[in-house]
Amino acid sequence: MNFSDFKLNPELLKGLVAMGYATPTPIQEKTIPLLLQGKDVIGCAQTGTGKTAAFALPILQMLTPGGTKPQALIITPTRELAEQIDVAIKDYSRFMRIKSAAVYGGVKSGPQEMALRRGIDILVATPGRLLDHLRNGVVSLKGVKFLVLDEADRMLDMGFMPDIKRIVAHIPTERQTLLYSATMPPEMEKLGRSFSHNAELILAGPRNTTARSVRQVVYKVEKTEKLRLLVHVLNHSDTGSTIVFSRTRHGAERIAKQLSRQGIEAARIHADRSQAQRLAALDNFRHGRCQVLVATDIAARGLDIENVTHVINYDTPTHAEDYVHRIGRTGRAAATGDALTFTSVEEDKYLKSIEKLIGKPLPITPKPSPLPELAAPLPVKLPVGSKTGYSPAKGGFIPSAANAKNPNGNSYKAKRPSQSGHSARPLTQTPSGAGKKSGGYTPARAGQYKPQRSH
Ligand code: AMP
Repeated sequence: MNFSDFKLNPELLKGLVAMGYATPTPIQEKTIPLLLQGKDVIGCAQTGTGKTAAFALPILQMLTPGGTKPQALIITPTRELAEQIDVAIKDYSRFMRIKSAAVYGGVKSGPQEMALRRGIDILVATPGRLLDHLRNGVVSLKGVKFLVLDEADRMLDMGFMPDIKRIVAHIPTERQTLLYSATMPPEMEKLGRSFSHNAELILAGPRNTTARSVRQVVYKVEKTEKLRLLVHVLNHSDTGSTIVFSRTRHGAERIAKQLSRQGIEAARIHADRSQAQRLAALDNFRHGRCQVLVATDIAARGLDIENVTHVINYDTPTHAEDYVHRIGRTGRAAATGDALTFTSVEEDKYLKSIEKLIGKPLPITPKPSPLPELAAPLPVKLPVGSKTGYSPAKGGFIPSAANAKNPNGNSYKAKRPSQSGHSARPLTQTPSGAGKKSGGYTPARAGQYKPQRSH
């Protein structure tokens, strides 16, 4: 099958050719025809499998360009995802006369207001800022014919549902509703049904599975050993672009600083950073200026960053679904990746929930014994974007990640992410204990959502 089988208009097909899309992915193959027939869809697909085009292409095909009020509204949980979807829509529609805009918090609302007042066809938004614009009468949703709730489980998890209900009240009931989620616990399906009408449930791949192209291993470690293991992994395995996930904002800050003291420059992204800092960190990481990104779960969903070779769960995720999302940042669009999870005794229960959710035990890899000691901390910190070179004020030469020495005296690699994939392996050891069956699963956690978690 190829995209012309969907009878998409020639400008849209031209856009897809320019993007290098030859054949639809399974979620696209399954959902695009239904959406083109005017059906509502609740879609579940593994992360990185082409969900954005699965909803954007039918919308682009069906709306009438040149309107003043948005005809399509896409609601997403995070600012970065809103930005990414808007960019994808602009890419797909580059040969069409479609106007789209992303609105989200953390930045000035003036430019967003101007774009909304000028008139747009497609609006991508996070809930809070959209509600502000609605209250101020800057935008009307009366013309919305397509409503997309993307990463809906995440929005539920983040406590956005009351806001979303308020927004949906502004949209005509005569509309097509599409709800997408990377995981589909029964509560999610129920919620999707409450927003839609006779929706078709589409599962591209089994529920709650992790991408097959991601090799997954677990290291059982003491809490106090995690930093040493992390530094060891970053120095001794063939890690390229690596995301290190921390449970908390403070944790993310601390890990980035500790890595910096070991000469490993790390960008960081979490909710305590300004939007400008978050975008700069992502940009540095995306373009290979920084090989390590330390993040909270704010970066776990939906973000499409090319060639992430490794995801390291410095903290074992407490919500099993977060594991699926985190490791979905690697192994995207046919590339392979490695996911390493550090689990302390206290976190064992979370590991068991994850294994239960993904339906398989995760192989345990022995940690190096003894774990190498950390080097004496470097005298200078290496914040992302800091200049390198001679600094009299700091009393010497500030090394860059490219020329710093690691604790063992080797030069740090300043590799850029490879364009042609990679041949990563977790570490030099061979996994042992693989196939250990987990037990003691408590259903209390999996599939259950906590309101208002912030990252
Ligand atoms: P998404 O799940 O929408 O974030 O997409 C993941 C990645 O796959 C993005 O880099 C897309 O540009 C890419 N992609 C989506 N659909 C296709 C397709 N049919 N062919 C090739 N790449 C695709």
